Amino acid sequence: MAADSGTMRRKATNVLLDTALEEFYGAADEMGLSERLIAILSHSERRLEVSVPVEMDDGSLRVFKGYRVQHSTALGPSKGGLRYDPAVDIDECEALAMLMTWKCSLAGIPYGGGKGGIACDPLTMSKKERERMSRTFAARIAPNIGRWSDVPAPDMNTGGQEMVWIMDTISKMRGQIEPAQLTGKPIAYWGSRGRNEATGRGVATCGLETMKVLGKDLAKMTAAVQGFGNVGSFTAKTLADAGVKVVAISDVTGTYYSPRGIDLVKAFETVRNDPKRLLNGFSCEGCEKLGVADVLFVDCDFLFPCARDGVINKDTAGRVKAKHIVEGANGPITPEGDAILNDAGVLIVPDFLANAGGVIGSYFEWAQNLQGVFWTEQEYNDRLVHIMKDNFRRVWDYAEAKKVKMRRAATMAAIQRVADVVELRGTFL
Ligand code: NAD
Repeated sequence: MAADSGTMRRKATNVLLDTALEEFYGAADEMGLSERLIAILSHSERRLEVSVPVEMDDGSLRVFKGYRVQHSTALGPSKGGLRYDPAVDIDECEALAMLMTWKCSLAGIPYGGGKGGIACDPLTMSKKERERMSRTFAARIAPNIGRWSDVPAPDMNTGGQEMVWIMDTISKMRGQIEPAQLTGKPIAYWGSRGRNEATGRGVATCGLETMKVLGKDLAKMTAAVQGFGNVGSFTAKTLADAGVKVVAISDVTGTYYSPRGIDLVKAFETVRNDPKRLLNGFSCEGCEKLGVADVLFVDCDFLFPCARDGVINKDTAGRVKAKHIVEGANGPITPEGDAILNDAGVLIVPDFLANAGGVIGSYFEWAQNLQGVFWTEQEYNDRLVHIMKDNFRRVWDYAEAKKVKMRRAATMAAIQRVADVVELRGTFL
């Protein structure tokens, strides 16, 4: 079937979008996906741009640009964050929306992928200015937002407060409270207990499952965790609770290394008491303080990069001693770093499998909001671990069966689930 531009391979000037398309085409070709399905899935269903006029506190008026992209609603409502950052543009949103399609698909939850945001610098704006901006943005994207159409969430520089402003605006426009139209809300207002720990719990679960399938004794395993923020701290805690010895943790203040194991209770206490929530001044028995990047190079069995993207690259990958890496952050390993690690026989559990606990948690919040029922924290955690284990096994088995690396296996399994449903539903989506 020929289509206007559908059968031509897309090239994008935006690096993120071009990389997302390349990864999709590569996996799709390896799977033998039909050109028809490749054409459909390489395009977004909707790319929306809106203007967002805001009265600033000094009386001036500024007009920001806002975006919302729905890459796919084949599996269900599109799901994905809203970010406030000067670098936000429509192509970046499309790249991230496409990645959300694959992430939700792989996670086995009934969502497609979306992403959006406003090109602005929220750190230079007052709370009142951010509120006016969020509410006007909400009103402009409202026709496409809803519990059964598109369900946004927090992302870079947005959080529970922004979600409440947006939900409140759209609810008022519709004359009824609609909590399930957004996730990442505060616990006090339709949020979920368990969400805060969910991503780290999921990352650690992938690490523990890797140890199990490889027949390792958990009590003899050592781990290093980069980043002690939301993801890193709960990854470290979940590993230690399962009996793994966490020998190094880190944040922007440095690496804290102890072959005897890090005192995590003390680490949490240090962060809680620090105004910037950092490990400033942390020490424990046998603990040595090293440079910020050194966490990547310590002696350990498993490394969990949970801080930021691009840290394991052509300059650092060769010095990594761990033979297993579980990606907690988004994109912590560059393609060059990936190639070096693959040559060295390092097993890598990819980010969109390992850190899907966050979006699975969003699905739980949505499901609870739809029912008007709140689960206990235990129920939330048990369901999360159950789904993460299942997903890990599915990708592990797929990788073994197809004789490919886990990253490629995860992408292929994710695309396959969406492609199957597109076939089922037809092109009138
Ligand atoms: P966070 O801001 O809570 O924590 C980041 C931590 O990394 C901090 O401890 C910071 O000091 C540290 N850090 C930053 N740069 C560092 C560096 N160069 N070396 C060592 N440490 C450094 O952020 P987070 O929510 O934990 O997110 C971390 C990563 O996980 C990001 O890539 C994010 O996109 C990804 N992620 C987060 C979630 C979530 O639910 N929070 C879900 C999926 C993916």
